[in-house]
Amino acid sequence: MKKVAFIGLGHMGSPMAQNLIKAGYSLQVYDLVPEAVQSLEQAGALACESALDAAEGAELVITMLPASEHSKSVYLGQADQPGLLAQLTSRPLLIDCSTIAPDVSREIAANAAELGFAMLDAPVSGGTAGAIAGTLTFIVGGEASDLEQALPVLQAMGKNILHAGAAGAGQAAKVCNNMLLAIHMIGTCEALQLGANLGLDPTVLSDIMLKSSGRNWSLELYNPQPGVMENVPASRDYQGGFAVNLMNKDLGLSQEAAQQSHSSTPLGALAKALYQMQAKQGKGSLDFSSIMQLFVTQPTV
Ligand code: NAD
Repeated sequence: MKKVAFIGLGHMGSPMAQNLIKAGYSLQVYDLVPEAVQSLEQAGALACESALDAAEGAELVITMLPASEHSKSVYLGQADQPGLLAQLTSRPLLIDCSTIAPDVSREIAANAAELGFAMLDAPVSGGTAGAIAGTLTFIVGGEASDLEQALPVLQAMGKNILHAGAAGAGQAAKVCNNMLLAIHMIGTCEALQLGANLGLDPTVLSDIMLKSSGRNWSLELYNPQPGVMENVPASRDYQGGFAVNLMNKDLGLSQEAAQQSHSSTPLGALAKALYQMQAKQGKGSLDFSSIMQLFVTQPTV
């Protein structure tokens, strides 16, 4: 499978597509934002005028879109506009890497199967740094035989390719993971600010917690306190990375899933409320580690 269509060239899609070009794949790309397409064209991709234009003739189609409604509109279409499934004359393997609702993912996969397409849901973990380095974790739902076909392409963008189960299972696992990510990011911010208010240096406290039982991914790879770690969003005014708005979306998905499955997720609900507060303060496009700003206070006594 050498001819790949890549649709959605944002913070994640752009570096993922670049890694496929570096690995020797022939890329046909599309995004609603012309500048995003142009920058991939400069890297060697074929710029296309529409999602259909990119997907037609490709052996494999990858989408990396913001949310459920975008995946639905690209694959299933909107009221007056048919989607890829209805329009494609060929039958490429479809891989949706966007993080979307598990039930929407299953709905798209069922429609795809009816029309003779093989489809995987393959949301990712590892952030923009993982997308650039080609070290993403892919959490895959769908048939094992389809995953086997997609493996070389996914391996060009990631280092862990995990099969979660049938269609939609990748999204279900991703929703659980991101709820936990939000919770430990918030916990890390709280602990770092408590330490600062107790007179501790945040770098010293981070090193101590990394060697103690508070160790977690946010602390280890994504420290939310500006200046503690280089090359993370906290040290560039929380620019780039994984937007508060996207974390809010994922926490909405986890709460919806919790309601549907009668699960109790009180910390997930609280995390959603805190991320909503951050978004309401006009910080929706900042990286999700900017939730630190909710805790930055000076001690009053
Ligand atoms: P983004 O908003 O930066 O990029 C999404 C891109 O999709 C944009 O360039 C947008 O123009 C394009 N797009 C939207 N609708 C389109 C359409 N109909 N046709 C073509 N292009 C369209 O988002 P991102 O940060 O790259 O995240 C993408 C997905 O990956 C999201 O579902 C997110 O939850 C998930 N994710 C993000 C991160 C991260 O760190 N940013 C990490 C893991 C997973």
